Amino acid sequence: MSTPDMNSSSDLAILGALPAFSAPLPVGQLDFPDWGDYESVFRSIFERQYYTNQGPLVNLLEERLAARLQVRHAICVTNATIGLSMVAEALEVGARVIVPAFTFIATAQSLLWTGRMPVFCDVDPQTHHLDVVHLKQLLEEGADAILAVNLWGGACSVHEIEALARRYGVPLYFDSAQAFGSTVRGRPIGGFGRAEVFSFHATKMMNTTEGGCITTNEDVVAERLRNIRSSYGIRKMVPVDRTANGRMSEAQAAIGLLSLDVVDSRMARNRDLHDAYRSELAGLPGLKILAPQNVDSSNYQYLICEIEEPEFGMSRDELHRALHAENIVARRYFTPGIHRAPPFSTLIRVSEEALPKTDRLCATVLQLPLGARVRPADVGLVCEKIRRIQKLAPAVRERLAGL
Ligand SMILES: *Cc1c(COP(=O)(O)O)cnc(C)c1O
Repeated sequence: MSTPDMNSSSDLAILGALPAFSAPLPVGQLDFPDWGDYESVFRSIFERQYYTNQGPLVNLLEERLAARLQVRHAICVTNATIGLSMVAEALEVGARVIVPAFTFIATAQSLLWTGRMPVFCDVDPQTHHLDVVHLKQLLEEGADAILAVNLWGGACSVHEIEALARRYGVPLYFDSAQAFGSTVRGRPIGGFGRAEVFSFHATKMMNTTEGGCITTNEDVVAERLRNIRSSYGIRKMVPVDRTANGRMSEAQAAIGLLSLDVVDSRMARNRDLHDAYRSELAGLPGLKILAPQNVDSSNYQYLICEIEEPEFGMSRDELHRALHAENIVARRYFTPGIHRAPPFSTLIRVSEEALPKTDRLCATVLQLPLGARVRPADVGLVCEKIRRIQKLAPAVRERLAGL
């Protein structure tokens, strides 16, 4: 490989060179099982001629998930969004539910589908998770429940929030879509609050292509959830107001069992990639990497940076565009903030000043590629491009302005 000429600008795609990667390098886990394992597990589905309705693979997956997450019940569902709606129903939470404004829109959408409304809480800019001071203020003003979110393979201040929920007498449940495999003070995420919901979407740590699971230690809640899902298997049927189709198919569970077999090795691999990013980007002005928050072990599923425009030399959005030109598919989760996007921007009047920390993070946070598609050498190349883009910031900005 030739040494790049530091005075030349021709090595960046945004300035006319070929992209660094010939195919898009994604953010997201995107693991595929070994083909032979896939064939044998799918052959068993064909032999049984049984596609869905709490089949043997879903039952086995639920057993293994409950053991791994150290909970009494793991209830597999179609996806995490439906799982979150089912929990709101099963817990019979009231109409106004506190959620962090800095989260994926599905967190808040899960409330709308069951006739509830989010009450947006600001987040702590250091941790990206629920700001407990603002949370307490919202509880003082009156709210019916807390739907806390564990982001980026980290966790919110779980114990403080549990104490607040107890003190104000409101149910607490968690969107842990991004937190499979992470632990808080030695306990796996999954056993906190009254229920937690994981996503097994293809981009998540543990995957069933589409899917998710709800965990709870409460037997009555679990029975209600199984009936709301419309597939309670051998369990007791209990009355519920409304049912949904929230079932997981045998095909999804088959992939899930294979994913669960390898999830520890994938987490270790993610940690190595994370370490590589941290050392390669160390000391770069205006770029800060967020370590997983409030956990003693993480799935390291996301590489989260914050870009400070004055120090970095360009905005987060400009860097994002320059990276995309290289086929480095960095993501701006969550932009725009859910409180500034339809339907919430029209349903709820949030003033310009109401959620300042969330608004700031929405303008500065960037995810870099991590997961099964990313090889260690790719991290080196991504970081080299970021350094180069920064070095040539004036030319890059000029080019972007003219596009
Ligand atoms: C992925 C994700 C969801 C939605 O998960 P689905 O399984 O796609 O419904 C919800 N909340 C957060 C924080 C997520 O990252």
